[in-house]
Amino acid sequence: MRKLTVFATIIATVLATSLPQLAQAQDMGRALGGIFNSLTRPAQPQAPAVPSLGSILGPAIGGRAGGSDLLQMLTQSLDQIDEPREIEIGRQLAAVLLGSKPLHPDLALQRYVNQLGRWISLQSARPQLPWTFGVLDDPGVNAFAAPGGYIFVTKGLVDRVDEAELAGILAHEITHVIDRHHLQALRAKARAGIATQVFSSQLNNNLGGALSAQLLALGRDLYSSGLDQDDEFDADRNGVTLAARAGFDPYGLPSVLQQLRTAAPDNPLFSLSLRTHPAPQLRLDQLELAMGNRLDAFSGKPAVLLSQRLAGRRR
Ligand SMILES: [Zn+2]
Repeated sequence: MRKLTVFATIIATVLATSLPQLAQAQDMGRALGGIFNSLTRPAQPQAPAVPSLGSILGPAIGGRAGGSDLLQMLTQSLDQIDEPREIEIGRQLAAVLLGSKPLHPDLALQRYVNQLGRWISLQSARPQLPWTFGVLDDPGVNAFAAPGGYIFVTKGLVDRVDEAELAGILAHEITHVIDRHHLQALRAKARAGIATQVFSSQLNNNLGGALSAQLLALGRDLYSSGLDQDDEFDADRNGVTLAARAGFDPYGLPSVLQQLRTAAPDNPLFSLSLRTHPAPQLRLDQLELAMGNRLDAFSGKPAVLLSQRLAGRRR
């Protein structure tokens, strides 16, 4: 964990004073050194459930590819989606997620999760992506990823895990990004024509002109239905390895799955997560098959509570 502490010092700690709650949320982008600049603009007081996405996102990257072009590409080959376009698609999908839940106003927590996530992503196969991590102000227990390196965890999840468990979850989501699982799923949906169907039922939404309403509709559909089971098993397997490579107890992710397994399926805090993923017991079984006892040498580290990590950061 010393490595993480060293890494943490590299990232500038910008905000030392505590701001009023509302201002905190509004200044999140600046306070986090620009990480969220393109994503967090305060919603209007009378904003609808899905705020104006155009206002949250700001301009598209260099106008390289408009939303409809991106969608067009999705229906063809993933090879045609280079990294800037992948990031642009992810930025638009991140807005879908932020449109349904805002970022939690605890800046110390946001900084910590970013440092943790970035440290893990540096050990991944794609350390150069603009990795961005956020905690959504949502009591539910869930985590989401979008192409290009956008990753969100809910406050409800963060409140229930220790550091190794959070590292396991982040590593699972990072693996989805590395392996472009969401792009593949979007492509399948785009080819199946789901975009058109979903879009036609949402004609009244006021979406930013530069964005592809169809891409956003695909994103909403994807986040409510989930990825392929095999992609989830892959992300579990590779996520455990990645977490271990980053210096964390590889049993962090299995430990969260144990928690999920004991959750009542109809508990609304867990229902979306359970509905969009294979059954926790199935995931544990698959992990056991893959891990055996090969990672046992990396386990047994004393648990670090998030409250310990955050204690020195809130002043
Ligand atoms: Zn997953």
